[in-house]
Amino acid sequence: MSTGDAQYIKNLNRRILIEHVIKEQTLSRSDLARVTGLNKATVSAQISKLIDDGIIRETKVGHIDSPGRKPILIEMNGQAGYSIGIDIDANEFRFVFIDLKGKPIERKVVPIDQGDVDEIISIIQYHLKPLIETYNESHKPIGLTGIAVGIHGIINSYDQIVFTPNQKWQYSNFKSKFEEVFNVPVVIDNNANLSAYGEQVYYENIQDLFCITLYSGIGLGIINNSKIYRGYDGFAGEIGHMVVNPDGELCSCGNKGCWELYASERALRNRFNAKFGSMPQNPAEIFEKPKYESELDSYIQYLAIGLNNIINIFNPQRIVLNGAMINQNPEVIQSIERHLKSKINSYETIHLSHLGEFACALGGAALVLKNYLNINTLDFVEYEYFNSHEKSAWT
Ligand SMILES: [Zn+2]
Repeated sequence: MSTGDAQYIKNLNRRILIEHVIKEQTLSRSDLARVTGLNKATVSAQISKLIDDGIIRETKVGHIDSPGRKPILIEMNGQAGYSIGIDIDANEFRFVFIDLKGKPIERKVVPIDQGDVDEIISIIQYHLKPLIETYNESHKPIGLTGIAVGIHGIINSYDQIVFTPNQKWQYSNFKSKFEEVFNVPVVIDNNANLSAYGEQVYYENIQDLFCITLYSGIGLGIINNSKIYRGYDGFAGEIGHMVVNPDGELCSCGNKGCWELYASERALRNRFNAKFGSMPQNPAEIFEKPKYESELDSYIQYLAIGLNNIINIFNPQRIVLNGAMINQNPEVIQSIERHLKSKINSYETIHLSHLGEFACALGGAALVLKNYLNINTLDFVEYEYFNSHEKSAWT
């Protein structure tokens, strides 16, 4: 066997072992050999190296029923390092820190004004730098593995921002500026792509998933065969600019009557502002008060028109909807499904996001962690960080 092959197999085994340790949470070396099919010597050598690197640690002694030596269990070393995901929307940015076990350990929403790339990066730096210093002390020896930035716009295959309807950051060297400031690997991606990835890693654990974000615009993130689907040049999923009304309002993309002008939550807010002066403070009131009924019906009808098209094009298994208003109103799903009457609409379920407004930041942080560990799949579903009560993961 040539050296190249040996290194390839070593890396492959390392990847398989890390993926299994993450998935199983805690297990012994002999369990690991059994579930991976690798021989015990290989497992032992690889795990020793991963322990030296700080990625894996030995933990409590396991229980066995028969007499004999109790096995030492291993697990991911959560406190060895951390990753950051940032979601930059039109009027605020959100960020999340996760540790090496994927556990969310810090989050915040910071309001921002429109600004150029340098201004936004310096605001982010102002808020993040003190936290990074603190976490570099508490999460050793690896520290910060990298940062992912979710952009509400189109990012091409060369990591260039092609179109941002809100900020006009076309073709800026955003990624390299970010890397210069923070001195770690930086990933930039579309916010809906990262949201879809977050849902898959933390909650869904299926190979094909559609995630639709409904905040200032509408984005579609597609997970296909466990990977983010990007299309030929990275533009896939710009579903907010699907035309639903050819005589409609002019959109920043140059067309008229794009879906997001009618079905994004910003569109709903504009509609309520125009008719009632403002949106109700409590999103639940939108469904409770009869005076809002006709505006809400019309909004949901537009939402369903786009969903009908997506369903007929892709035949998705599962669709996750994520928006500040709808996340607070689970009955919205039934209202939408009442409008999906086509005999050829075929899908398994449509449901609301379990990660909510932090889905993009979480997905970004998870993607950075996956890249750092150099593995193919990350699966934190069994850790139940969000299953019982979302807030519990943040305390
Ligand atoms: Zn448009």
